Amino acid sequence: MTTSQTKVVERVDLGILIDLLADSGYDVIGPTKQDQTIVYRPISAIDDLPIGWTDVQDGGSYRLVRRDDSALFGYVVGPHSWKSYLFPPRSVLLTIENVDGELIFTPPDAPDRRYAFIGIRACELAAIAIQDRVFLGSGQVDTTYANNRAGLFTVGVNCAVAGGTCFCASMKTGPRCLAGYDLVLTEVLDESTHHFVFEAGSDAGGEVLHQLPGRDATEADFARVAAIVDDTAAHMGRSMDTRRVREDIYTNRDSAHWDRVAERCLSCANCTLVCPTCFCSTTEDTASLDAALGQRERRWDSCFTLDFSGLHGHPVRETPTARYRQWLTHKLATWQDQFDSIGCVGCGRCITWCPVGIDITHEVAAIRTRSEVPA
Ligand code: SF4
Ligand code: SF4
Repeated sequence: MTTSQTKVVERVDLGILIDLLADSGYDVIGPTKQDQTIVYRPISAIDDLPIGWTDVQDGGSYRLVRRDDSALFGYVVGPHSWKSYLFPPRSVLLTIENVDGELIFTPPDAPDRRYAFIGIRACELAAIAIQDRVFLGSGQVDTTYANNRAGLFTVGVNCAVAGGTCFCASMKTGPRCLAGYDLVLTEVLDESTHHFVFEAGSDAGGEVLHQLPGRDATEADFARVAAIVDDTAAHMGRSMDTRRVREDIYTNRDSAHWDRVAERCLSCANCTLVCPTCFCSTTEDTASLDAALGQRERRWDSCFTLDFSGLHGHPVRETPTARYRQWLTHKLATWQDQFDSIGCVGCGRCITWCPVGIDITHEVAAIRTRSEVPA
């Protein structure tokens, strides 16, 4: 089959992409505006996207404001991440029926659907690659994740704006989508044009691109894409120096700064729930009153909850200091020992959605300062 690897698609034709994916049987998910945030939900038309909106983000603060144009992807990431679909907040692991005293254990059927995600940012593709390693590549395949991930079609977006809490450039995960997409687009919008420069990253993407109307992309189109991405990289709201970060965190295990962060930390777990790479969960069992039916569910948990580190009825990380240190140390140091990569992609969500504005980039910089170690 002939496939196109690049194409310039006019704004008026972009809706065809959603139609093509829906007609191919995908459940199409994309960014939408809901409750003054941008969240990922099912979409059926371009008008479902947050057209003409952008987000203003800082530590503990998020707000949507109108842009002075009609950009379709003129914002960054909101409180949702794609893990809500691949690793849902709640999922049934097992149903147990009591039939005349005999217990019948039944795992759920694999869902009869395939997702197409439209509007995945570079940092989010990097986060999915990390969760792939956790759920599929660690020697034990997670069935729920594998079923939701099977047949996934991804349309990435190269970011044309940087958020106030973004730091993907310093994490080398963005703002250009690097890998893991079937298609990637860059939105080009000015007084004279509104179009999308597409590149295919897989055969499946090439086949979809082949069906879209448009013209081949030229060197000038790619120069424009490079300029947009470079400009975004130059305007990141935050940055993190990752050189020797693992060694520095281990060395500063007793830094006084852990206590200073803990004085502000509410142990609310927001940071872990919004994080696209966090994967901790717990299980809950329920039973009907007549004991005829039971269910085991998995739900998201967090290293910030006391119960999560419970051993023999007693939490081993009793204090906010211990819990925050565990979270940051895992993200940036022990994750490297476990999965050969840092567990942070620089999306900035944990900074934006922390109610007291605790900032992983600031805290790690302070913790790495040797003078913070108590005498
Ligand atoms: S730790 Fe924070 S910045 Fe890093 S990936 Fe998670 S939410 Fe994003
Ligand atoms: S760091 Fe912020 S978001 Fe995370 S648990 Fe503490 S208060 Fe909540």
